[in-house]
Amino acid sequence: MRVGRRLLLAAPALLVARTAAALELDGTLTQGALVVGRGVPGARAALNGRALRVSPEGAFAFGFGRDAPGSATLELKPRQAPPETHLLHVAARQYEEQRISGLPPAQVTPPPETMERIRREQAMLNAARAHDTPGANFAGGFIWPASGRISGVYGSRRILNGEPRAPHLGLDIAAPTGTPVAAAAGGIVRLAQPDFYFTGGSIVLDHGHTVMTFYIHLSRLLVRDGQEVGQGESIGLVGATGRVTGPHLHLGLFWAGTALDAALVLPGRGQPP
Ligand SMILES: [Zn+2]
Repeated sequence: MRVGRRLLLAAPALLVARTAAALELDGTLTQGALVVGRGVPGARAALNGRALRVSPEGAFAFGFGRDAPGSATLELKPRQAPPETHLLHVAARQYEEQRISGLPPAQVTPPPETMERIRREQAMLNAARAHDTPGANFAGGFIWPASGRISGVYGSRRILNGEPRAPHLGLDIAAPTGTPVAAAAGGIVRLAQPDFYFTGGSIVLDHGHTVMTFYIHLSRLLVRDGQEVGQGESIGLVGATGRVTGPHLHLGLFWAGTALDAALVLPGRGQPP
């Protein structure tokens, strides 16, 4: 419990907590955060009762969604130490409001005949993000997939052509069409589709343990489904496909299908180089 209090004081700054079992937690304990645990090879771990995959080196990951409640329970059963329970305080965030006008009406309220297509594409995205792969590429950190001006942030409430819509759950980097997009971390391509209704040219990369990055509105894809890519490798080109008002890369980060804030894991406090 002493550790739990330290985590509380550390939030929302970068935290590194050590426990009897040599556990380290890397991340900001806030809504939208990906947290990477290390140092517990052979341990079993669970967040709020949900079992977490632990790599042979002792790394694991968990995350908190946009509206995650203020506390979470991390249970750890180390191989040769008593079980530990850590109460994590999850800091609440304030989200911006983003108004976008001038979208084609069909992009704000899709025509009924496209609903079947949208459902099918959503199911493909959900299936891609459901993989739970043993590799732990997420533990090596993330790099910016492209540089450019940040034109949209995680969590913002969206008003599209004056109508309230679902919040924006990615990070938008404005860059010219054709700008190369690099893999933010090594992984396996779980989806590579050139033309989805909302997301246009779309790629899902699997970094292990259900941690995924998502790259959309691409003008061109340079990878295929199932392909392994290294960190920094070009996977596609920036574009303006799907529901957009101009060329940009929308970068998403997911854990266990929950959208997280990629800006919190990228170097430079959310500003690209
Ligand atoms: Zn976006």
